[in-house]
Amino acid sequence: MNKLGKIYVVGIGPGNREHMTFHAKTAIDKSDIIVGYKTYIDLLEGMIKDKEVVSSGMKKEIERCIEALEYAKQGKIVSLVSSGDSGVYGMAGIMLEVVLKDGSDVEVEVVPGVTAANAAAASLGAPIMHDYVTISLSDLLTDWSLIERRLHCAGEGDFVVCLYNPKSKGRQQQIEIAREILLKYKSKNTIVGIVRNAKRYGESVIVTTLGDMLKYEIDMFTTVIVGNSNTYSVKEMMITPRGYKL
Ligand code: SAH
Repeated sequence: MNKLGKIYVVGIGPGNREHMTFHAKTAIDKSDIIVGYKTYIDLLEGMIKDKEVVSSGMKKEIERCIEALEYAKQGKIVSLVSSGDSGVYGMAGIMLEVVLKDGSDVEVEVVPGVTAANAAAASLGAPIMHDYVTISLSDLLTDWSLIERRLHCAGEGDFVVCLYNPKSKGRQQQIEIAREILLKYKSKNTIVGIVRNAKRYGESVIVTTLGDMLKYEIDMFTTVIVGNSNTYSVKEMMITPRGYKL
């Protein structure tokens, strides 16, 4: 029987090469085959010239994992790439479950990456210096009622809230409802950061308020960070103080 290969589930970070970890780069270098969504494969251009590349469209996550597993069973070293951190609304969980279901002994290593919340926060200044939550507004896999409940809890707890998947062509209303829920607990003057294409080509950074945030473009390339009651803005930055006395 063939010697088994290995699967790296690699978070490649937000986009720019400088924000990829050394280990992510090493895992990709060691791999025979790179599997991933086309947009992420494109971000690796130049780094994977000598590799076999299997790219696919969106919503093929499970098929992609099964494919990666098949290659690894044939003895190949495979990198399954996803953006940001592969374990944050990414591919890591699906890959592990596919391997477990298959019952095979293929080794899976999850390689962490800089997630969108961290990338966006860095571009805004320091908005997640205190307790924060991430909430995905995508209800494709999660009941909307549960998402609403979590928004209520986050608002009640005065958490900084990082909203992933805020709006897409087919999901326009979720961000409006999320804002209304947060307004039950947070003032309309609460500082909000809107970062599109954080740490990659075409980045835009806006600092606004919960009252005004819907005046700006928000889409699937955007992460929205809603401050807590102590968050303030200065010189286009967003700062959530931790309590140090200066
Ligand atoms: N695994 C990814 C998240 C995938 S969910 C990670 O850890 O970052 C996809 C959502 O992530 C997008 O809709 C957007 O809200 C956010 N996102 C991913 N990359 C981003 C970037 N460079 N700038 C702003 N938001 C980003």
